[in-house]
Amino acid sequence: MGAVNDSNQINAKSVPAGLIRLLKAYPDFLDSADENSLYWKDGTVMIYDDGIQGKSHDEMLDDPDIEDMMSQEYEKGSGWSSPPEENFEPGRIRYEPFFKKMYGSDATDVSRNIVSIEWADGSVIQFSSINGAADSLAKAAEELSRLPAEFQKYLKNIGGTFVWRNIAGTDRLSNHSFGTAIDINTKYSDYWQWNRNMTYSNRIPFEIVEVFEKYGFIWGGKWYHYDTMHFEFRPELLQN
Ligand SMILES: [Zn+2]
Repeated sequence: MGAVNDSNQINAKSVPAGLIRLLKAYPDFLDSADENSLYWKDGTVMIYDDGIQGKSHDEMLDDPDIEDMMSQEYEKGSGWSSPPEENFEPGRIRYEPFFKKMYGSDATDVSRNIVSIEWADGSVIQFSSINGAADSLAKAAEELSRLPAEFQKYLKNIGGTFVWRNIAGTDRLSNHSFGTAIDINTKYSDYWQWNRNMTYSNRIPFEIVEVFEKYGFIWGGKWYHYDTMHFEFRPELLQN
């Protein structure tokens, strides 16, 4: 095991795979890692495993460590198991301090890095420029706009991008707060909280999902708590 890339050094032999994925995904912020620590370029140290054993899924959602956040592997492409198994939802467990540190700790802080880009339907939308998120979304938008006409209705009248808010019914911040998530047309979307049940349903064509994944976005349609309008910039989960 050598350097992950030119700037990221691995300090020990047994660096968890989850930390290696983070180092590769966020080179602007992260410096290095060892078996239980993540070292930021500004000197901050974050612990990987908080040592708390046997957390339930809800406890992991409410009080995760980085290990919990990286514990489920997102399956890129069409070969994923649909519908998702109970509580299988890679990317939905988020260690909030990690994202606050990169994208901003409040609405004002996040706003400083929000830029406008052209969306697939020609409208102008807002997204964070941090980690190349807005550039990645702009590339996805351009490619989505070239999909055949029958796909365009899903991309019009989008549900939204940047808004500082909690996930409905929780005290947890949505990644819309960081300007790194986009909801496409809600009219064709399925969300477990709207349906008020856990019976999986989806109407978003996979052709759209594939374009987003290509540019570093995970899809909420691959979650047990399904949210099929939701795409979120999480390059650490798309390295396979
Ligand atoms: Zn969303």
